[in-house]
Amino acid sequence: MSAERQLDPSTSYPVTDRNRVKRLHERASYDRAAVHAILDAALLCHVAYVIDGQPYCTPTLFWREGDRLYWHGSSASRMLRHLKAGMPACLTVSHLDGLVLARSGFNHSANYRAAMCFGTARIIDDAEEKAAAMRAVVDRFYPDRSAGLRPITTQEAKATTIIGMEIEQASAKVRAKGVGDDEADFALPIWAGVIPVKTVLGEVEPCPRLVPGVAAPPEVDLYAPGKTLDQCLLDAQREYEEDLA
Ligand SMILES: Cc1cc2nc3c(=O)[nH]c(=O)nc-3n(C[C@H](O)[C@H](O)[C@H](O)COP(=O)(O)OP(=O)(O)OC[C@H]3O[C@@H](n4cnc5c(N)ncnc54)[C@H](O)[C@@H]3O)c2cc1C
Repeated sequence: MSAERQLDPSTSYPVTDRNRVKRLHERASYDRAAVHAILDAALLCHVAYVIDGQPYCTPTLFWREGDRLYWHGSSASRMLRHLKAGMPACLTVSHLDGLVLARSGFNHSANYRAAMCFGTARIIDDAEEKAAAMRAVVDRFYPDRSAGLRPITTQEAKATTIIGMEIEQASAKVRAKGVGDDEADFALPIWAGVIPVKTVLGEVEPCPRLVPGVAAPPEVDLYAPGKTLDQCLLDAQREYEEDLA
């Protein structure tokens, strides 16, 4: 690895060849807050890892507590079985924010926010930490919800594996701008522009088998129709962190 870039470790992740953005490096950030903002606006990530030389990339739900990322799955899952011993992994989140139509095919692009986090993924064995994580998988997205739910059975807990990964290094890469045409192409009579992309929530659909009189709780109000999913998840993360503090 080449020499590390010295950034303030309290606000930035350390930079080595592993996480240094080489292509279009002006879009990069190693700032913890910038990386966290991209992570916290998502619930879906892709975890990449190698087993016996074969790369895999698994989509899964995840959440963040400080510099630690968590995800969970069935105890029978191949990924989780191999992670037991501790395994290098890369967790990636990407948001598509816009389609960029240029005056040449070459300059077509996309607006996006993406984060890549590197670390060693490990099974959470500690009973207390696992129980807390099993509450967190609900409460991070729906603050305070787990306390009002039917408790998890021993069998359910046994069937669930929780993985934790301390973020050792990370990078964020963001494109948030208009058309990047070559100067000479701006004079061409060709339409160009940006089509913004947003994930917006629809109307809530209560379960048709609800016990009569059961009203939607406050955590459902957080996911109000018309709100972007990004904003809902950022609001939920803020409430979750306030509850943890
Ligand atoms: C929605 C979306 C669409 C994209 N479309 C294209 C496309 O069509 N063509 C294209 O070439 N690229 C595209 N990208 C960018 C792509 O993710 C890579 O950044 C790019 O391809 C360079 O990859 P590389 O491995 O050569 O980067 P390098 O700069 O060699 O990667 C080195 C290190 O930089 C960091 N890094 C690289 N890319 C990212 C990233 N996206 N987010 C966070 N950290 C990063 C990682 O830590 C990585 O290990 C797109 C990204 C997104 C999110």
